[in-house]
Amino acid sequence: MTNKTPITVAYGDGIGPEIMTASLRVLEAAGAQLELDVIEVGEQVYRSGVTSGIRPEAWASLRRTRVFYKAPITTPLGGGYKSLNVTTRKMLGLYSNVRPCVSYSPYVRTKHPAMDVVIVRENEEDLYAGIEYRHSDEVYKSIKLITRPGSERIIRYAFEFARQNGRRKVTCFTKDNIMKLSDGVFHKVFEEVAVEYPEIESEHMIVDIGAARLADTPEMFDVIVVQNLYGDILSDIAAQLAGSVGMAGSSNIGLGAAMFEAIHGSAPMIAGKDVANPSGLLMAGVLMLVHIGQSDVAERLHNAWLKTLEDGIHTADIYDPSHSHELVGTQEFAEAVIERLGSKPRHLKPAHYGQPKPIETRMTPVTPSKRERVGVDVYIQYAGKDPVILGQLLEAKVAGDGLALDMVGNRGLKVYPQGVTEAYLSDHWRCRFLAAPGEQADQRQVLRLMERVVKAGLQVVSSEGLFLFDGQPGYSLEQGQ
Ligand code: NAD
Repeated sequence: MTNKTPITVAYGDGIGPEIMTASLRVLEAAGAQLELDVIEVGEQVYRSGVTSGIRPEAWASLRRTRVFYKAPITTPLGGGYKSLNVTTRKMLGLYSNVRPCVSYSPYVRTKHPAMDVVIVRENEEDLYAGIEYRHSDEVYKSIKLITRPGSERIIRYAFEFARQNGRRKVTCFTKDNIMKLSDGVFHKVFEEVAVEYPEIESEHMIVDIGAARLADTPEMFDVIVVQNLYGDILSDIAAQLAGSVGMAGSSNIGLGAAMFEAIHGSAPMIAGKDVANPSGLLMAGVLMLVHIGQSDVAERLHNAWLKTLEDGIHTADIYDPSHSHELVGTQEFAEAVIERLGSKPRHLKPAHYGQPKPIETRMTPVTPSKRERVGVDVYIQYAGKDPVILGQLLEAKVAGDGLALDMVGNRGLKVYPQGVTEAYLSDHWRCRFLAAPGEQADQRQVLRLMERVVKAGLQVVSSEGLFLFDGQPGYSLEQGQ
């Protein structure tokens, strides 16, 4: 191979520079054909007043290479600094986060010797859309935003990944028994896409019991596909269960761009001491090599790394006198891997990467539904504590003109009419007005209703339109309704 692939490299903060130096040495020795474009991101950049942690010229490099090999960075606390990871994912449209979590028993201590799980996490939506409001003195709100096309894309990615990598099963975790709409659509799309992959087993679990099973018997899982927040939590748990927070790499994949990094942070406490384990970044490098079509180099490097682990050449984080042979520093570990290039592990499963095909995922255009406006939820800030007084005021002064008061809710609980009143009542109330069954409400009716709310002396915080989509409610019922 003569053509070098341009990649953007960031040495990062804390242990970043030492593990990046070690990893690049191994990649080069393994024969990787890379043209490096080094950029500065992270702490220095933040402290120079750039709140995103990345300067415009660094963006220019990323736009050119579309491949980012990134060491961990330190995000300074406070000061309005934005997470560089979240910014990079959003700007480059990196919708998929893939984290393999593998045990290397008996060479690395773990309670789960047979674990080999890949977590595929949606990377752009969910609560990470970062849409938040403070609505009243007492109430704060985060919006969980889930799209059908975004769900389809990540779920297809998980199945395509499984197919390309000879995986047998894809499991989906949601909480659709509670979030029937946002998690409900993710589960529904999962069932629809699974049908197109008959050779791959598919299963769905509620996320709480799924997480408990993952912690207890990770070997029953293969590929797991999840929304953003569940994925964030579960992938850290899974990496730790494999016994190796310092050893796992991850990829963030988008349309025509990708970022590769270790899953751990910049570990400032051990920075500059040459003790950090470079394996996480090295494994991210392997994922990168496969992504850019240098699978033969990835395979050589991965197998030499497995052999190094088998030979008991271990950094301090995984060193255990009962089965390690030699305690080494960061650069010595890299040397040991380089010495073993060309070798294969004897007991651990050797790595094998065929020529990869880019994972094509499509988003099926959503067929427009018949949408009918049937009412409105008006949120108000109201300091009174008696739902009956509020309910009667709304019935007397606000309802009418084709919109009747359906219920008043507080913290997701129906409190009027005949609601629960033992629960704590906050200063934030949901007042639901509906048109008569079979009737629709037009926007002017809603505006006139809002005006009556104001005239009644109540403080409007926000409102939500209530729609039926092909006759199905596009809104949740209050608990107790
Ligand atoms: P951390 O992952 O840096 O450290 C957690 C623990 O694991 C520490 O005990 C550390 O010494 C150990 N550890 C981590 N990597 C290791 C390695 N390669 N070898 C040996 N031991 C290792 O998490 P933290 O302490 O919560 O965060 C430190 C900083 O890193 C914070 O500023 C945080 O914002 C940042 N961070 C960055 C990223 C990223 O850039 N992707 C990810 C997570 C955290």
